[in-house]
Amino acid sequence: MILNDDLLLRYSRHILLPDVGVAGQMRISDASVLVVGAGGLGCPVALYLGAAGVGRLLLADGDIVDMTNLQRQIGHATAAIGENKADSLARSVRAINPEIDVQPIREALTDAALDDAIAAVDLVVDASDNFATRHAINRACVQLGKPLVSGAAIGFSGQLAVFDSRRVGSPCYHCLFPDHVDEPELRCAEAGVFAPLVGVIGAMQAMEALKYLAQAGEPLIGKLLLWDGLRSEVRMMKVPRDPACPVCGQAALQAG
Ligand SMILES: [Zn+2]
Repeated sequence: MILNDDLLLRYSRHILLPDVGVAGQMRISDASVLVVGAGGLGCPVALYLGAAGVGRLLLADGDIVDMTNLQRQIGHATAAIGENKADSLARSVRAINPEIDVQPIREALTDAALDDAIAAVDLVVDASDNFATRHAINRACVQLGKPLVSGAAIGFSGQLAVFDSRRVGSPCYHCLFPDHVDEPELRCAEAGVFAPLVGVIGAMQAMEALKYLAQAGEPLIGKLLLWDGLRSEVRMMKVPRDPACPVCGQAALQAG
């Protein structure tokens, strides 16, 4: 990737940052990222990653835009009602940055299609809205050795974590949330969600993804950030790797 004069200008405020510079921006521009989900979290994630120049963005969602999405899913315009969310978001990202490659994937990725998409990128952002998808993404990321930026948001509160099973001591999503735990799943459709909450958490996911790609600062590995928007409070929990984890534990990896 060569940064020509136009690109040097477009990304100049990144390049000015000592922690990014030309080298960091080139890493961002050379990178490919899969964003699973083009809803409340996926919109700000994709808009920031696209604006910041991630070279190749895969945006996956099988849902269509409806009226109830528009209050918070800022990548979709009213005119996009009835359109696939991945298509609608890809168009919004391209309008901001026509210099990058944006590929919509018009389905809820599962099984082999999920593995193929994850294998094709450098980093995965989980912007999905259900446990089954989160666990499927986590398993594929561990097996394929890809870093995963995970976020979730409901009501007024959200959480954020980064996982990279190639790093000693990094837990995986399953270490944190064992999937045999049978908790009732809260959905935005039933519980409601405050509009800018998904922007806060999605922007933090984009922040972690871009830091990771640029190799700037310290990634949020081994910790879970909990954001309480009603009280404007942030808590940080340490999350160790579970040696007996069936996804990332030694036995699981040897069997795999
Ligand atoms: Zn694990």
